Amino acid sequence: MADFKVNKVVVFGVGLIGGSFALALKRDKAVGEVVGLGRSTASLEIAQGLGIIDRVGELNDVRDADLVLLAMPVGKMEAVMSAIAPYLGDKTVVIDAGSTKQDVVAAAQRALGSKLGQFVPCHPIAGAEKSGASAAQADLYIDKRAIITPLPESTPFAIAMAEAAWTVCGADVSMMTPAQHDAVFAAVSHLPHVLAFALVESFAKRPEAADLFANAGSGFRDFTRIASSHPEMWRDISVANRAALLVELDRYMNTLIEVRALLAAGDGQALEKLFATARDARDAWLDSIEK
Ligand code: NAD
Repeated sequence: MADFKVNKVVVFGVGLIGGSFALALKRDKAVGEVVGLGRSTASLEIAQGLGIIDRVGELNDVRDADLVLLAMPVGKMEAVMSAIAPYLGDKTVVIDAGSTKQDVVAAAQRALGSKLGQFVPCHPIAGAEKSGASAAQADLYIDKRAIITPLPESTPFAIAMAEAAWTVCGADVSMMTPAQHDAVFAAVSHLPHVLAFALVESFAKRPEAADLFANAGSGFRDFTRIASSHPEMWRDISVANRAALLVELDRYMNTLIEVRALLAAGDGQALEKLFATARDARDAWLDSIEK
C-alpha cells in the first residue's frame, strides 16, 4: 500500500498523540472523516472546535472505519479493545500508539479474539511534555520514527495500512519485536523520565525547596523538561515496562555509585575521563541524528 487515502478514521484518546495523527492525515487530505472518542466529552468537543476531529463518535463508529487509532494511556488499552471488539468490521485495521508494547500485545491477545489479525502495535517516537488536544500539531511526526511491532497474526493488509498511515504523517517506519522495543525504550526513554521526575521530587520535598527552585537555571531546566510530562501516562508506562526499567535503573545506579566513589576519593582525573567519554558519546549521537 504505497498511498494512504481512506474514508474514515476513528481516534480513541484525542490528546497530543491522537490529535496530531488526526491533524497530519487531514493536512495531507488522506482521510474523509475523523471521528473522535474518549473518556471526556468536554475535551472531545474542544478537539472538534480545534478542527482536529470532525465529530464526536460512538462505539458503533468502528464498524465501517478503515482505521482505528488507540491513543490513550497504555493501562487503558485493554478496556477499550474489549469495548470495540464486538463492533469491529472485518476490514477495519486497529493500531495503537502506546509507549510500551509487550503489555499492549498481551491486552490485544486477551481482548480482540478472532479480530487479533486486524491489530498492528505501533509506537511513534515523537512527543512532548505537553498533553491534551490543544497540544496537538500536524507536523509532530515529520522526520520522526514510527516503530511497528507486528504480531505473527497481523495480516499483511493491516501491516501495510499501519506503515502507510505513519508514512503519510511524515514518519520513517521501522520494525522491531515487542520485547526488543520495550528493552530499548526502557533505556532511552522510560529511564530518563523516571530520573527527571525523581530529581524534581527530591528537591520539592525539601524544606528549602523554594530557594532551590529560585536559583535553578537552564541546566536544571534542560535536565528536568520531561518531568512536566503527564503523570498518569508515565505511571502506566513505568508499571507496564517495570521489568526492563528496573534493569536499566540498576545499571544507572551502578554508574552513580562509581561516580560517587570517584568524587569521595577526589579523583578528578578519573572523573574527567568519565565526563569526556559521556560528552563524546552524546556529541556523536547528536551528529548522527542531525545529519
Ligand atoms: P494525552 O494525555 O495528551 O492524551 C490521552 C488522551 O486519552 C486524552 O484525550 C484522554 O482523555 C484520553 N483517554 C484517557 N483514558 C481514556 C479511555 N479510557 N478511553 C478513551 N480515551 C481515554 O496523552 P498522549 O501524550 O497523547 O499519549 C497517548 C498515548 O501515546 C499513550 O499511550 C502514550 O504512552 C503514547 N505516546 C506518548 C508520547 C508522548 O511523548 N506524549 C509519545 C509516544 C507515544
